[in-house]
Amino acid sequence: MSAEVVPSEFTIKPNPNPMPEDERLQAFQSLGFGTLFSDHMAVIHWNVVKGWHSAEVTARGPFAIDPAAAVLHYAQEIFEGMKAYRTGEGKVVLFRPDENARRFNESAKRMAMPEIPQELFLGAIDHLVKADAKWIPEGEGSLYLRPFMFATEAFLGVRPARDYIFCVIASPVGPYFKGGAKAVKIWVSENYTRAAPGGTGAAKCGGNYAASLIAQQEAVEHGCDQVAFLDAAEHKWVEELGGMNVFFVMDDGSLVTPPLGGTILPGITRNSLLSLLRDQGMTVNERPYSFAEWQADAKSGKLKEAFACGTAAVVAGIGEVKFTQGNFQIGTGETGPVTTKIREQLVSIQRGKSNDPHGWVRTI
Ligand code: PMP
Repeated sequence: MSAEVVPSEFTIKPNPNPMPEDERLQAFQSLGFGTLFSDHMAVIHWNVVKGWHSAEVTARGPFAIDPAAAVLHYAQEIFEGMKAYRTGEGKVVLFRPDENARRFNESAKRMAMPEIPQELFLGAIDHLVKADAKWIPEGEGSLYLRPFMFATEAFLGVRPARDYIFCVIASPVGPYFKGGAKAVKIWVSENYTRAAPGGTGAAKCGGNYAASLIAQQEAVEHGCDQVAFLDAAEHKWVEELGGMNVFFVMDDGSLVTPPLGGTILPGITRNSLLSLLRDQGMTVNERPYSFAEWQADAKSGKLKEAFACGTAAVVAGIGEVKFTQGNFQIGTGETGPVTTKIREQLVSIQRGKSNDPHGWVRTI
């Protein structure tokens, strides 16, 4: 294999038709999640002969791929999600991007796709964020970055493809949930599961999300914001939400979160919260927690708070839970004090407002 491309070898082709400034600033007035996109994208190609090659930052636009491209038939696709923030001093920072690079390669291994050198993954992000720096909103918003990779080889046999595209796109975002900091409602799916032992639950592959959509649709039909999945083997244990991990706050001050066992996504927010909570001397038990226990603890008052966590929403209180047999409230039904405090602590580290004891923040 000839030498692979390195981060300094990106070709930068500025978009000749960027969105006019007044239009961009106007769009920033009503930021939702994932509907507005920046001017550029970073693209790197891979094939069996050349490895990683042809790295560029170019105008964001459609790909032309063959109708037989493997991704369209066998869903060889993985992705990541992370955010760039503008700090009060005007610096641009990322939160633990090396963890996204590491998880991306774990996903790649599981899906029999090529791994990307960490410095190339991070280089693509740095180049794109620099090209689109004006797309990072001030204040509460952030620039959501979506690295992804998909199989482009035109071949209908079932085997790992020999050609891939890695790409990063960027989307300025506001709050993930429409209600802002209001506690969210969760629908517990008792019929559909997300991931089985030995399956792809710990990988961030598009197929997992395709399989979750019908359950998420059911959640919305029941007036809920997100779906919670139970384990596939027994339909008994709480695993995670459609796009977030989950924590429970008990009346003795300890917390519980489901363990990573290959069927849930190892969230970077989850991992960061475990460190921050334990730094403060709090006990967090990573242990299986059943849906029956969840109901009983909410009813008895043993469960004080519950929250969801992930890059998109950061930390969101869970106020109410619905399922086929009924519904129950958690605590007061509002976002609780432990949830609010840990959210504020994490957000202020992510945005460079407080010191960063673990060295998680990377300045671009
Ligand atoms: N679980 C699932 C299924 C997710 O999609 C996400 C979002 N990436 C998470 C958990 C949270 O992961 P992270 O904190 O790394 O965003």
